[in-house]
Amino acid sequence: MCGIVAYIGPREAYPILIKGLHRLEYRGYDSAGVALLNGKLHLYKTHGKVSELEKLVADKDISGNIGIAHTRWATHGEPNDINAHPHYSPSKKLAIIHNGIIENYATLKSELINRGYTFESNTDTEVLIHLIEDIQVNEKVNLFEAVQIALNQVIGAYAIVIISQDYPDMLIAAKKGSPLVIGVGEGEFLVASDATPIIDYTKNVVYLEEEEIAILTRNGELKIKTIKNKDKTPYVHKLEMQLSTLEKSGYDHFMLKEIYEQPRSIRDSMRGRLNAQKGIVSLGGIIDYEMKLINAKRIIIVACGTSWHAGLVGEYLFEELTRIPVEVEYASEFRYRNPIIYEDDVVIAISQSGETADTLAAIKLAKSKGATIIGICNVVGSSIARESHAGSYTHAGPEIGVASTKAFTAQITILTLMALSIGSKKGTISTSKFYQYINEIDSIPEKVEKTLKLSKQIEILAKEFKDVRNFLYLGRGYNFPVALEGALKLKEISYIHAEGYPAAEMKHGPIALIDKEMPVVIIATNKGSYEKVISNIEEVKARKGKIIAIVTEGDVAVKNLADYIIEIPETIEMLVPLLATIPLQLLSYYIAVMRGCDVDMPRNLAKSVTVE
Ligand code: GLU
Repeated sequence: MCGIVAYIGPREAYPILIKGLHRLEYRGYDSAGVALLNGKLHLYKTHGKVSELEKLVADKDISGNIGIAHTRWATHGEPNDINAHPHYSPSKKLAIIHNGIIENYATLKSELINRGYTFESNTDTEVLIHLIEDIQVNEKVNLFEAVQIALNQVIGAYAIVIISQDYPDMLIAAKKGSPLVIGVGEGEFLVASDATPIIDYTKNVVYLEEEEIAILTRNGELKIKTIKNKDKTPYVHKLEMQLSTLEKSGYDHFMLKEIYEQPRSIRDSMRGRLNAQKGIVSLGGIIDYEMKLINAKRIIIVACGTSWHAGLVGEYLFEELTRIPVEVEYASEFRYRNPIIYEDDVVIAISQSGETADTLAAIKLAKSKGATIIGICNVVGSSIARESHAGSYTHAGPEIGVASTKAFTAQITILTLMALSIGSKKGTISTSKFYQYINEIDSIPEKVEKTLKLSKQIEILAKEFKDVRNFLYLGRGYNFPVALEGALKLKEISYIHAEGYPAAEMKHGPIALIDKEMPVVIIATNKGSYEKVISNIEEVKARKGKIIAIVTEGDVAVKNLADYIIEIPETIEMLVPLLATIPLQLLSYYIAVMRGCDVDMPRNLAKSVTVE
C-alpha cells in the first residue's frame, strides 16, 4: 500500500524521490511528502497528489543528496496535511516515513504522553519516531540501537525509513510485514516499497527480510542486522523488470494498456512451461513439490479480491482435472477462524503483489501446521514468493492499474497449467483430452487478441449504461467467478454498485431487484448448462431487465433473447474465463472513463494491500 522512496548518494535527491513517488502512484494514496537533508532537515508534505507536493515545494529549498519521500494511504487519522508523512521526532532532528500499522500505538502513545510528549498528528507513525528519539536520548544509545530497541517494542507491520540531522551520511530502513527493497547503485542506494522507483538507476536489489534493519551509508556500505541484533549478509538479486512496462506507451490509462497486453502476458505465463507440440506442461517452480500435489487429500486456495476469483476458477479446474477436493478461502477469514489444516493439505496462495497481508498471514498459519505452500504471485521476490515452499510466478509484468486485469488472466493461466500438469501425472485426464486441452490453451492468446477487437462495440455499449446505478452479473460453472470478477471490476473503477451471482441463485434473492432499470450481464457461453442459462435469461426478461449477453460466436438462441450481444471466440468450457473476462474489463473501463472516474487510481483503493 502507499509508497516509500529514499535516496542516499552523490546526486540531488529531490528529482529522484519525486520521480519515484510518481512511479508509486499506482499503488493508491491520499497524501504525499518529502524530507531532505542539507545540513538542516527540510520537510514538506501535503494532502493530495504528488503534483500538489511539487507545487508546494516550487519555491522551497529542496537541495540535498539524502532524502526520504512517501505517499500515504491513511489508516490512522484522516488524510490531511498534518497526518501526511514524513513525521518529525520531538526535536525535529529525525524524520520517518512508514507503511503499515503500529498496532500497539495507543499504549505506546499514552506512555509517551505521560512522560510529557505532545503529538501533532493522529498517526501511529508519529508515535514510533517519538519513541525512537525518546530511547536515543534517555538510554544514551546511537540511532541504530534506538531503532532496534523501539522495534522490539512494536506490534504490527512496518516498512520504515529514518533520516537524521545528526547522521547526515546515513539512512536507516527496516521492515516487518510491509515490503522494502534496497537498490544498490554505484556509490548510492535507493530504498523503496517496490522496485518500480529503483529500476531507472540500478537492477541490483536487496529485499529486506522480516525484522531486518538496514544501515545505508554514503560510502556505499550496506549493513543488515535483525532487530535481535543478528548480522545478516545482504543477498543481491538482479531485477528483470523492463522500464517500458512502467509507462503508458500511448494508451490513455495503464488499465487499458494492461487489458491490451493480455495476449502477451498470457503467452508469457505459459512460456517455457507449455509445449503443445511435444505435449509437455511443466512448471519448473513446483517440480520438487509435485508429489505433494499429486498425493494431496485436499487443496486449499487462499486469496483476496480478484485473486480470490481466480482461485474460484482454480477450484473448478483442479476438481475437474485432478479430482482433488478444493476449498477456496478468503485469506482474512481463514486466518482467524482456527481452520483445520492437515499435513497432506496443499495450500495455494494467490496474490498479484505477493505482499497481501492477509494472504501472507494465512500462509504462515498453514505452514506452521505442516501444510505445503504453493505461491502464485506476479511480483518477483515478493514476501509470499519467499514464504512459500514452491510456486510459479505469473510473469504478467508489472501491473500498474489498481484494478487488476492482466494479473487475473495470468493467475488463471497458471492454475490451468498446474491442474493440467498434475492431472496428467495423476492419470485423472485421458491422454486425448490432455492433448486437446493443451492445444486449446496454446491458442488462447490469439483468441484473446480477437476478443480485444470487440473494444469499439463495448465502448458504444458503455455509453448506453454509464448512468445506471446498479448492475447484476450472472454466470454458471466456470463463468460464475467471471461474473464475480466482472461485478468487482465495475464497482472498483466506476463506483456503480454491482453484484455477481451464480445464475441459478438469482431467483433466491437478487431477482427482487430486477426491473427495467436493471442491466443484467450474463455470461452464456456454457455448453453443459446452456438451456438452464437460457431459462435464467427468460426469468430476467419476464421482469423487464435488460440483458447483455456474452455468447460464443455463432450463438443463436441467446442472441434471439438478449438486448445486447457480445460474441467471443469458441473455446472449451474451462478456458472461457480467459476470454469472457476481457469484454467485462473493457465494459468497466469505458463506463468508468465516461463517468470521469480516475481509472488507474480509483478512490479508496490500494494496489498492494499490506494492511489487514
Ligand atoms: N499507519 C500510517 C498512517 O496512517 C501509515 C499508513 C501507510 O501505510 O501509508 O499514517
